[in-house]
Amino acid sequence: MNDDIPFDKSFSLLPDQVQEVAPGVRAIAADNPGPHTFKGTVSYIVGSGQVAIIDPGPDDATHVAALLEAVRGETVTHIFVTHTHRDHSPAAARIKAATGAQVLAQGPHRLARALHTGETRRLDASADLDFRPDVALADGETVSGRGWTIQAVTTPGHTANHMAFAFKEANLLFAGDHVMAWSTTIVAPPDGAMTDYMTSLHKLARRSELLYLPGHGAPVRDAPHYVQYLIKHRQAREASILHRLGKGAADIPTIVRAVYIGLDPRLVDSAALSVLAHMEELVARGIVTTEGPPSISGIYRLA
Ligand SMILES: [Zn+2]
Repeated sequence: MNDDIPFDKSFSLLPDQVQEVAPGVRAIAADNPGPHTFKGTVSYIVGSGQVAIIDPGPDDATHVAALLEAVRGETVTHIFVTHTHRDHSPAAARIKAATGAQVLAQGPHRLARALHTGETRRLDASADLDFRPDVALADGETVSGRGWTIQAVTTPGHTANHMAFAFKEANLLFAGDHVMAWSTTIVAPPDGAMTDYMTSLHKLARRSELLYLPGHGAPVRDAPHYVQYLIKHRQAREASILHRLGKGAADIPTIVRAVYIGLDPRLVDSAALSVLAHMEELVARGIVTTEGPPSISGIYRLA
């Protein structure tokens, strides 16, 4: 199923070692590998002398120390956060305390939709509910430092508050978890939403940046082309779900088994949430029906 996307699973960064990955951009990976984080969260330092940090990462003292060591003798003026998952935003507080830098993001963590009656928030453990930016950025807003200009690009889908950041002078985009070379992203309701995710992909497909620096894994090269692969991949998954429902009504575990062949067992719950995200969209479009609001335990059938 994933074979159509030209994934790049290479990764050259060692934990908490600094490496220049593009002109004016240094990368430092946190030591938090896992099924959702790949080799670890990648934090970026933009500029030199007076710098910005993109995604300071998890609340990990070693990673924070490595970031502060990397900018020793420099001034951190801005901290940009792509989204409020615990592997991206919590270290902002420590970096801010150490440097006095301003924290900028779309906003606090929020859901893509209201909770349904009786629904619990499955992903609370992964959300950084304490995060509050000093400055809430709007779509298209630009922020300038010495030698760099960052433009905020709202890209909801993975989370409702997800933001990518365009580095104008280098014509590259910090893509957060929205577009990554090693894997597709997780779109898990109620934090994420499939309609938003697809809209955000189409939005990036119209942009000029060829290089994306993501929150996990290697840079994405030929990015607009890669984004088209991601769009086609989700369309193919939707077609597979509809194909399965064409054989009769099914619940989400049944659909996951039919659609995700060879899935890493650690990702079954995430896959179920991705299918739920598709169901929310298909029900909204009137293509699929279920009883009550789409839920993880619902039975789905073609309308
Ligand atoms: Zn995330």
